[in-house]
Amino acid sequence: LGFYSKGIEFKAPEYYNDVTQNKVKRENATLFSLVRNSELDGMLSSIKYVEERFNNRFHYDWVFMNDKPFTEYFKGNVSAAVSGRAIFSEIPKEFWDIPDSIDKDEMKKDMDFMAREQVLYARKVTYRQMCRFNSGFFYKMPVMNTYQYYWRVEPFIRFYCDIAEDPFKIMREEKRAYGFTMAMLEDRKTIRQLWSNTLEFFESEHPEYVGKRNSIKFITHDSETHTFEPRNYNLCHYWSNFEIADLNFFRSKEYEDYFQYLDATGNFFYERWGDAPIHSLAVSYLLPFEKIHYFANTGYYHKPNFDCPSDPDIFNALHCKCEPARSFTNLAYSCVPRFLLAEKADLEENTKV
Ligand code: GDP
Ligand code: MN
Repeated sequence: LGFYSKGIEFKAPEYYNDVTQNKVKRENATLFSLVRNSELDGMLSSIKYVEERFNNRFHYDWVFMNDKPFTEYFKGNVSAAVSGRAIFSEIPKEFWDIPDSIDKDEMKKDMDFMAREQVLYARKVTYRQMCRFNSGFFYKMPVMNTYQYYWRVEPFIRFYCDIAEDPFKIMREEKRAYGFTMAMLEDRKTIRQLWSNTLEFFESEHPEYVGKRNSIKFITHDSETHTFEPRNYNLCHYWSNFEIADLNFFRSKEYEDYFQYLDATGNFFYERWGDAPIHSLAVSYLLPFEKIHYFANTGYYHKPNFDCPSDPDIFNALHCKCEPARSFTNLAYSCVPRFLLAEKADLEENTKV
């Protein structure tokens, strides 16, 4: 841990070399992980994949956030593992604590109910706090103020393929606001009220917020009738454990008002709303397909699913190490095929004369 000294930043030698020799051009962007001290092993494993497959060519900053102070041990190990600067930031209580308005008895009752229904993390309060933080607070952290784009990385994720092009560059050049690599179905039991609350917000309270061009088709394509049912949520969501996005999308009045509206219901705690469906519903109402980028062929893994390119040319070019036959991306539970279908339908509708 020789390189690490007290401060919150660490720059690997190649960082200085590449910058001074002008070898890399970085975007205004950072990698970002919300993580606990106890997840050091998983974090180091993720860092290894991200560095090998991508960041060792760019040395982007990496912001680590925690609701507790990071230990010196955690900071030292992580700082030594990243090829750019490691920046550690503690989450203020007002971004994390359960609001006073939450009725603890009701929350307990609702959690018991969810436990009987075998909902994952049914009784986990910190999981709810994490989902709420990822929905309405991570982008308000002062440490994020200077960045435009972030790439979210969780512990124990993997990339089975090279990330050949800088995703941040793609985001900027193609004017994208939201990027994903996997999409799937949410467990309805965790978001019973989310859809009706969302309809209230976007259709009754703020119809003026809904994008003239939007991507609502992604969340309303019915795979049985093969039609788009504007008032039926199909449970599709972008899997936000991988997420590359423009912070200005989350900083917008429209997104903030949506988050505040949802937060006022208390359902982050009475139910167990994930940040993934919330990000996805907001993206679908507010952004057209042109603003959304599908990062294909990443070979991304987050338990229990992974992507793996089936095209042998792509597989070889990206040095993938995975089994294409077991790729999740094109399975029935995946929402990627539905994204592509919805995008195509939208394009056809909007190019009609
Ligand atoms: P899952 O992917 O839905 O099963 O949830 P995870 O356990 O992977 O949590 C999502 C992200 O939030 C991961 O990056 C975790 O490290 C992080 N996380 C979850 N709970 C906490 C917490 O209580 N404190 C902190 N600091 N990070 C958390
Ligand atoms: Mn996870």
